[in-house]
Amino acid sequence: MSMYSLLRNNASPNMADLEDAFQATSLFNAEDFAPFDPTQEVIFPPELMTLSRGQRSPSLCFRGSRSAWFQPGSLQELLSLKWDHPEARVVVGNTEVGIEVKFKNMVYPVILAPAFLPEMSRATHTEHGIEFGAACTLSHMGAVLRAALETLPPHQTEVFLAVLEQLRWFAGLQIRNVAAVGGNIMTASPISDLNPVFMAAGCKLTLVDKDGSREVQMDDGFFTGYRKTILRPQEILLSILIPYSKENQFVSAFKQSPRREDDISVVTAAMSVVFSSGTDIVEELRLSYGGMAATTKLAMKTANRLLGRPWREELLQEACSSLAEEMTLDPSAPGGMVTYRRTLTLSLFYKFYLTVLQKLRGQGVKGEELQSEYLSASEIFHPETPAAVPEGRSQEDVLGRPMMHLSALQQATGEALYCDDVPLYENELFLALITSTKAHANIISIDASAAEEMPGVVCCVFASDIPGSNATGPIHYDETVLADQQVTCVGHIIGAVVAETQLEAQRAAKAVKVQYEELKAVITIQEAIAKQSFYQPIRTIQNGDLEAGFKQADHILEGEMHIGGQEHFYLETNVTLAVPREDGEMELFVSTQAPTKTQSLVAKALGVSANRVVVRVKRMGGGFGGKESRTTLLSTVVAVAANKLRRPVRCMLDRDEDMLISGGRHPFYGKYKVGFLNSGKVVALDVSYYSNVGNSMDLSLSVMERALFHMENSYSLTNIRGRGFLCKTNLPSNTAFRGFGGPQGMMVTENWITDVAQSLGKPSDEVRRLNLYMEGQSTPYNQILGQFTLDRCWDECMFRSEYQQRRAAIELYNGQNRWTKRGLAIVPTKFGISFTALFLNQAGALVHIYTDGSVLLTHGGTEMGQGLHTKMVQVASRVLGVPPSKIHVSETSTNTVPNTSPTAASSSSDLNGAAVQNACQILSERLEPYKSPEGSWEDWVRAAYFNRVNLSANGFYKTPDLGYDFETNSGRAFNYFTYGVACSEVEIDCLTGAHKNLSTTIVMDVGHSLNPAIDIGQVEGAFMQGVGLFTLEELHYSPQGVLLTRGPGSYKIPGFGDIPTKLTVSLLRDAPNDKAIFASKAVGEPPLFLAASVFYAIKEAVSAARVESELRGAFRLDSPASAERIRNACSDRFTRLCPPAEPGSFTPWSVQV
Ligand SMILES: Cc1cc2nc3c(=O)[nH]c(=O)nc-3n(C[C@H](O)[C@H](O)[C@H](O)COP(=O)(O)OP(=O)(O)OC[C@H]3O[C@@H](n4cnc5c(N)ncnc54)[C@H](O)[C@@H]3O)c2cc1C
Repeated sequence: MSMYSLLRNNASPNMADLEDAFQATSLFNAEDFAPFDPTQEVIFPPELMTLSRGQRSPSLCFRGSRSAWFQPGSLQELLSLKWDHPEARVVVGNTEVGIEVKFKNMVYPVILAPAFLPEMSRATHTEHGIEFGAACTLSHMGAVLRAALETLPPHQTEVFLAVLEQLRWFAGLQIRNVAAVGGNIMTASPISDLNPVFMAAGCKLTLVDKDGSREVQMDDGFFTGYRKTILRPQEILLSILIPYSKENQFVSAFKQSPRREDDISVVTAAMSVVFSSGTDIVEELRLSYGGMAATTKLAMKTANRLLGRPWREELLQEACSSLAEEMTLDPSAPGGMVTYRRTLTLSLFYKFYLTVLQKLRGQGVKGEELQSEYLSASEIFHPETPAAVPEGRSQEDVLGRPMMHLSALQQATGEALYCDDVPLYENELFLALITSTKAHANIISIDASAAEEMPGVVCCVFASDIPGSNATGPIHYDETVLADQQVTCVGHIIGAVVAETQLEAQRAAKAVKVQYEELKAVITIQEAIAKQSFYQPIRTIQNGDLEAGFKQADHILEGEMHIGGQEHFYLETNVTLAVPREDGEMELFVSTQAPTKTQSLVAKALGVSANRVVVRVKRMGGGFGGKESRTTLLSTVVAVAANKLRRPVRCMLDRDEDMLISGGRHPFYGKYKVGFLNSGKVVALDVSYYSNVGNSMDLSLSVMERALFHMENSYSLTNIRGRGFLCKTNLPSNTAFRGFGGPQGMMVTENWITDVAQSLGKPSDEVRRLNLYMEGQSTPYNQILGQFTLDRCWDECMFRSEYQQRRAAIELYNGQNRWTKRGLAIVPTKFGISFTALFLNQAGALVHIYTDGSVLLTHGGTEMGQGLHTKMVQVASRVLGVPPSKIHVSETSTNTVPNTSPTAASSSSDLNGAAVQNACQILSERLEPYKSPEGSWEDWVRAAYFNRVNLSANGFYKTPDLGYDFETNSGRAFNYFTYGVACSEVEIDCLTGAHKNLSTTIVMDVGHSLNPAIDIGQVEGAFMQGVGLFTLEELHYSPQGVLLTRGPGSYKIPGFGDIPTKLTVSLLRDAPNDKAIFASKAVGEPPLFLAASVFYAIKEAVSAARVESELRGAFRLDSPASAERIRNACSDRFTRLCPPAEPGSFTPWSVQV
């Protein structure tokens, strides 16, 4: 959609245009776009053309069962309607009201839509400013203000510039195109981005009702409470006058949010000052803040205190201490981050102070000297526009070439079919889940009577409807399909409603009343440790002599780190369509990485044998591990409902439902003691990992095992002990997520190695290099490292990133800038390839050759966008010796290749590739006698067929020589390792905690790449997902275990602007791997951890800021390095004025789980 509208308006966009258009969308590569082709233009909807020409619509009214919607033809008609229906909602963009209806269950019986009334949608230049109708969209307002900048003298446009600055970061283009300025004012949100500017600038509003109009100023009296204004019920907002600024007036606006683009503000502010002519004496001052109270708030006391004072250091000091007093927040305030928010009010004022000092100097006003190293603090902290990806990648096909992903074109055009695109069956029904609202409770009663009466409802499904077993789970059957007696997390599935439509099912599900008897809940890792609430076993890997190691050490250091969880945020949420067939058969269309697991758990719940259940997967819209085991929660419920009704039943979860129930990456807490020599050589490590497992085991033991297998990351350690504790909590069960515990394990490693470097005052790259493994050394689990390429990756990354020159430049920069700092870090990774569960290291394939020479390829892996099918076609193409165009992969299904392992652990190309190779070799050998040099492939196939040769073959592969044993610490854990190194440079704004990813250089060893285009895409994608994990994404849970972040509005994955301005990925050359198919290596998960280089570059930058406050040495920084954490760690004169509340003295809004 974004691409379409961009190209329609601008056929040859530059990078800045792309960045603007994609602000609110997630990641993409500029190279993914084909040039705009006008011959492919679709017909633009004629109705929209009419509207865009300003043609008036007549009065319209639509009546539905719950609401009546009026579009009045004139202002008078609107005012009469509002008079008659004072409770009516005026709706323009519906971006706020839509959220209230969908998520807050609000019902508005009368809706008035005034968007096309000229009085409400025009912009008029007046003597005092520009008057905007309240229904003007934000995009229109922005365009008018930008045009005004061209014609007006600069001193008149200070307010306009401040509004434009806020609009730049206001939602995404799609929202700005429909959302109205009046909607923003009247929502009266305390974190509105525009209201602070309107208040600081003293904007005037015109309010009207049937009897007349009045003009009010937007000041402290306008907002009367949380989401309340002085408007009377019959009144509407007609317009807003945004004034021209005066001579000697300076205005600035600031927005601080966790993610720069399209995010909700933590604190938003606008400030306006007017000076007596030719002086720096304050005549008028308005400081307006959002995010610091129930309404947008003017800091009246502080402003009044500063009147008549010169704009100098004493004023700054007075302002800060006064703001610290005036802008207080309850420690339990909704939204949390209380210390950070309080500090921001001071930091943002300081930025304003510096900006104004500069402007005064620009006007020749004598005053306070401005030190040059402070200047960067007043620059607006914008990420730079990324550089375009270099061109020239070959489109040629065959193995080892960058062949395009086979369904890339269908995916780009929207023609690719996903599970929910399966056409509706005639008698199909929809299902919605009934989930627990309590973290831990006994179910006393369930009353579904109201729900069953609701329109469209067919039936409810509860545990008693399960014909087979209610016990489920991917390894241990420690979960229920439907909770019957007890719930153990918020989001635990209790039942379901089946109805004629999805909306009816969802409404009815909300009407089911469940009575609970609440039990004590464990939510956080720390609570679990205190209560010793652990699943068994507690895993240990130990090697060498720990005691001797610590004795040998010159220094011993202890530390800890918490690593937050992560939501998978696949584009396609969980979905299942279950179709009952004859004689106990059930056919399921599912978006899952694990068709076989789905098949067996559905069969178990239905009480039938596995041969009656067929699971089919065309493709997934992303999986990332989230669809490895947790998909069966939904699939089994849908199958039970379909079985009960003997009708097809479908359910695709909404994003909020999916986030609530499906779990994510395990949060980890690591505690360590490390012993090292003066040189930086580490000689002993004792580390304990605690993961927040949630309410069932799921795959958590394997996840912890992988964390332990990666506890030394890439460093040689002779004396080591790692222990892994699985915390049993009342959160939705956490599960597989790209990296599978490896990233958490290695993150703690990089933390202690950073601590070692910082405590010795040595560059961290030196300490890392000193400890790096060498060829032939052994891991703590006694696996010898052969074909070792990590040192080559390291040296190449140092070279390509120009590490030493960069470091020198950063030192210079940091010396010259007090309030922005840069940091650089180079981080290695070594990722073990194989499932840690031995039996999963197997795969099958089924290849048919038809008599026209076409090949149908089936294998056990599923396609989730990672390009597996493309690589498999390349393998088959090489072995059979036919072009990829003759080979087709249709789908993955349990009736073609049985007993498959989930598509996971990065090893699907290795396993399935070898199985495909095996099947194709069998066929190739069978065809051998018919391969006459003069004949074509088709001739050989036909000849073989007429000679009654079987042209269908089954292939199989199992990884040889695997089998690690924890008891004896022996046996090979992994088939081989994938290596990589990344170097990242960042810049932080010490006053707000914002950061920019300036550059990243990655060198990755993927052996002889099967497909460099796909592999580089995997490296980039994994790296950016890691950037989200380590710097951005935060799941907030209330102390009662309720997930507070349930959608893109509050949970932020990386956006366009988070991609490093310069991102280069190189694949290590001449590094064949003799352990996998065609000398390649697995690539899916290993690069994710390289994003830790961004985290540790941030930590370096924070260290540089701390040095300015005389703070040196190791310090704790948890992951993600959010703006809040960065700001709080950059301790300075402002943070000292806002000390945090005593822990335990209040109930926080959210807890670190
Ligand atoms: C994805 C997303 C991102 C967002 N990002 C931001 C952001 O970055 N910053 C920010 O501040 N907000 C943001 N918002 C909030 C919202 O978009 C804005 O507040 C927007 O300006 C609302 O305008 P609207 O026309 O859509 O309002 P609507 O939803 O149509 O109406 C909102 C409220 O205003 C009332 N109203 C509207 N017009 C009038 C009138 N003339 N007289 C009386 N009452 C009226 C309505 O009755 C309703 O109560 C975001 C919302 C979404 C969904």
